[in-house]
Amino acid sequence: MSNLNEKMVSLGTQRSVIRELFEFGKKRAAEIGAENVFDFSIGNPSVPAPESVNRTAVSFLSEMDPVVLHGYTSAQGDAGVRAMLADSVNRRFHTSYTADNFYMSVGAAAALCCCFHGLCNQGDEVVIFAPYFPEYTVFAQGAGAKPVIVPADTKAFQIDFDALRQVLTPAVKAVVVNSPNNPSGAVYSEETVKKLAGLLEEKSKAYGHTIYLISDEPYREIVFSGTKVPFLPDYYRNTLVSYSWSKSLSLPGERMGYVLVPSEMDDFDQVYAAVAGAGRALGYVNAPSLFQRVCAACADETADISIYETNKNLLLKSLRDMGYQTVEPGGTFYMFPRSLEADDTAFAERAKAYNLLIVPGCGFGCPGHVRISYCVPTERIERALPAFEALAKEYRAKNS
Ligand code: PLP
Repeated sequence: MSNLNEKMVSLGTQRSVIRELFEFGKKRAAEIGAENVFDFSIGNPSVPAPESVNRTAVSFLSEMDPVVLHGYTSAQGDAGVRAMLADSVNRRFHTSYTADNFYMSVGAAAALCCCFHGLCNQGDEVVIFAPYFPEYTVFAQGAGAKPVIVPADTKAFQIDFDALRQVLTPAVKAVVVNSPNNPSGAVYSEETVKKLAGLLEEKSKAYGHTIYLISDEPYREIVFSGTKVPFLPDYYRNTLVSYSWSKSLSLPGERMGYVLVPSEMDDFDQVYAAVAGAGRALGYVNAPSLFQRVCAACADETADISIYETNKNLLLKSLRDMGYQTVEPGGTFYMFPRSLEADDTAFAERAKAYNLLIVPGCGFGCPGHVRISYCVPTERIERALPAFEALAKEYRAKNS
């Protein structure tokens, strides 16, 4: 036994299920050819960043004073960048934010860590809805908070309000929502959002302290025709928004996002200072200078995300025709069908026999389901359909 921090050693050594699948995929590709392995495990955007991203980056690199461009920015991000973002958000959501409402972060991951560390004292509870992005529990625990999971509403992947009421105790400091959702693809309806806001108001009043809502929105723009994503600060003023350009601009490796702290919230100055203080304590210093500027300049754009809707339509219809049960995603590039046996790990393992790589739902706090990431070329889905059919057929034969 070493005298290191065992928790960190274990986080650093455990291979995630997705990583395992990735390694398996590589091995199978070497055996049978990459075109015969149907990898739906990773949520890495498959479309390139828009051309304007490269153009903007090149123009900063060739035209800006390199000492400034490659220098430290203010800890909370360059003031001009934050002013541009405020303008962009104000145009889209009819708000009146200023640069002072934005804290630039190293992707949504760091934005979330700044929120958890900034808001929570040791032992405070953070409510998380299943199915959830698995890193939420790691980030919350890293901040000394206790994650409390609300079981999934598996009918529509909205919110099971009875289950939420049961966990909303005075120990709760924050509630995290992620809509459009990884892994279900669900988008919270306005009705859900209003009900959630009402309940958080009620409980904050009853307990005499604010329950903050953290809205994690890396998929905000990736929604399918007709789907509206309510802007949460309009419904609940104590909302912090965690945003990222990893998915909308296909820039996950550039690590750029922000925390939006609306001025209307309780103790705004203190909350903003706490978010910035958390960034300082975590050693983030400032988000990368070049890509702060690029993302601000391209904030009104997205990559060509239309392929995700094409893929969703193809996969949804085909899987339903084969007998799979799945809630229709309103956005993202994930689908979360029921596994064809109760044990989702066994089911995902069985899928590997058909070279289908899909992720068991238990890792997202929602057993009995599997996640399919369809941020892949459409042609991969077309070629994978016979494998999904053969898998379904095997289970039909087993169950008959
Ligand atoms: N939140 C959710 C729901 C995600 O799916 C991801 C990444 O997949 C993140 C946060 C982290 O995003 P980023 O790359 O911006 O750190």
